[in-house]
Amino acid sequence: MKICGLQKTTLLDYPGKVAATVFLGGCNFRCPFCHNTDLLTGNAPELMTTEELLTFLKRRQGILEGVCITGGEPTLWPEEAADLMERIKEMGYRVKLDTNGYRPQVLKDLCSHGVVDYVAMDIKAGRWHYAEVCGIGGPSRELPGSFLLSAIEESAAWLMEGHVSYEFRTTTVKGIHDAKDFTDIAAWIGGCERYFIQGFVDSGNVLKSGFSAYKRAELDEFLNIVKTTVPNAEIRGVDY
Ligand code: SF4
Repeated sequence: MKICGLQKTTLLDYPGKVAATVFLGGCNFRCPFCHNTDLLTGNAPELMTTEELLTFLKRRQGILEGVCITGGEPTLWPEEAADLMERIKEMGYRVKLDTNGYRPQVLKDLCSHGVVDYVAMDIKAGRWHYAEVCGIGGPSRELPGSFLLSAIEESAAWLMEGHVSYEFRTTTVKGIHDAKDFTDIAAWIGGCERYFIQGFVDSGNVLKSGFSAYKRAELDEFLNIVKTTVPNAEIRGVDY
């Protein structure tokens, strides 16, 4: 496990909390619209050691309330991530885990271990083209191998059982998503605790080029579809 990035303060990443965000290197997906491309492989350079991160967090006690552990994909490092989260919790912080949900047993173990207070899980797309949206499987994909949709469904179903506070979120990309995605997502996660539609932002470092963002009015149409089964669904972070 490598700590490859640190956002020292964020008001956006942990709902309702002043937080820091820790970026772990490595991901098991290759979403073509990923804007963290520098973090995807195990070759991403290390920014700091765990001890250096904990020293930073010690200095921020009383200022920060939470720490977001994101990636890449943190569940690729179950033991190290659990140890890191446990030590962060011992300092009095709330811990949020961002995950793509592809390792349901690791997700369950981390939450059951009591080191996670809040989970944000991506719902990447409608289920019929989930593998494609994650960049897995087939000759034109970034990663070879067959994709197990059941793993994603297992994580989502487990979260919806209410073991831990959670949200689902979909980063919505013109060129990948359309209304059909949200019809399927509404059927899939109806009744969930929280769901957010997020807009695509071209960071200038996106894995594949050619994508763009939907306008707010277009996202509103998608939101209305999801609201049929998730009445409190929201659009987040889109002001255009
Ligand atoms: S957007 Fe996809 S490829 Fe990028 S870090 Fe998240 S899950 Fe991995």
